[in-house]
Amino acid sequence: MSRFLSQQFRGKEGYKLGERPKAVDFIKLNANESPFPPSPKVMEAVASADLEQMRLYADPHNSAFRQSIAESLGVSVDQVLADGGSDVILGYCLLAYGLDEPGFLFPDITYGFYRVFSLTYGVSFREIPLNDDFTINLEDYRGCGRHILIANPNAPTGLVLSRDQIETILRGNPDSVVIVDEAYVDFGNESCVPLTAKYPNLIVIQTLSKSRSLAGARLGFAVSSPEIIDDLEALRSSFNPDSISTVSQIMGCAAMKDEAYTRACTGKTIALRDSVAEEFARRGFTVTDSHTNFLFVSPPGISAAAYTRALKERRILARYYDGPRVRDYVRVTVGTESQMAELIRQTDEILADYERSLARESCDSALV
Ligand code: PMP
Repeated sequence: MSRFLSQQFRGKEGYKLGERPKAVDFIKLNANESPFPPSPKVMEAVASADLEQMRLYADPHNSAFRQSIAESLGVSVDQVLADGGSDVILGYCLLAYGLDEPGFLFPDITYGFYRVFSLTYGVSFREIPLNDDFTINLEDYRGCGRHILIANPNAPTGLVLSRDQIETILRGNPDSVVIVDEAYVDFGNESCVPLTAKYPNLIVIQTLSKSRSLAGARLGFAVSSPEIIDDLEALRSSFNPDSISTVSQIMGCAAMKDEAYTRACTGKTIALRDSVAEEFARRGFTVTDSHTNFLFVSPPGISAAAYTRALKERRILARYYDGPRVRDYVRVTVGTESQMAELIRQTDEILADYERSLARESCDSALV
């Protein structure tokens, strides 16, 4: 840290991303990326783009991209804000509504970015503990007097609230902003976008990083009332109005239009997720009821930290959080069929190694 750093940012560590190894021989299941390439229509759109235009700045209003989002979701363009990934939009929302008291409320176990961003930028927040089974207690949010931020489905637990349950939260908080982070909504869930017509205080945030296989293009969006979109647009245009490159805007339009491809990919992921969840359960793992493209599992006997380390030694990366209530769990992304087969094969070997080490230990202690 230099001696010049503003007081507010001293000692702040930033959000820890999942490892991104240079080596390509890892099976990378630690960032919930899609195992599928972007839609062929995305490739075609980029291949036929007029690259001479790159000498010009991009469209700062992201008009075509926002139009494609509006059409795909059945909302009007003035209800849509787009930016370079959903993290940055979440950041704008936290700043827009959270600098004054009473600030935000979000669950204690959720996407870690909310907490880290809030601590870094001075957003006021309180965390509400999830129930022991990681479910949300809706009563905690009734008339809570704060703005609310909920990842739905939640990460890293994978659990989901129905649209009716989110509506209960909205009904109980007409004077607060309610943000629903739908990064994983396309993996078999109901979106709350239709509720934006009824609740002007609702902000739904989605990303093209997961179901649309465009994590590297950095594209996300918010859907809300035009008044809220105006608030967010003011923050965005004062920070980085050119945040989405022309190439990414082209990719985003093509991806939003190819709903059939998105559904085909998410359908495969959902089916594989459910069958791998059964494989884990059969081996004695505790497995949460994931509605996402990842599984949150707790191994039998062996600690979650040791299981994650053993996977890494076997060239498989998973995500481990050393938090008080989640340290018995590991989060693994649902990859391709062959990656999942390898994950299960290596898991069997790890569990067998563990059993052998236990047997050795009890044998050694019998000899003492
Ligand atoms: N929300 C949740 C719940 C996430 O897991 C992620 C991905 N780490 C994001 C938002 C951010 O996604 P992106 O910035 O790639 O759009």
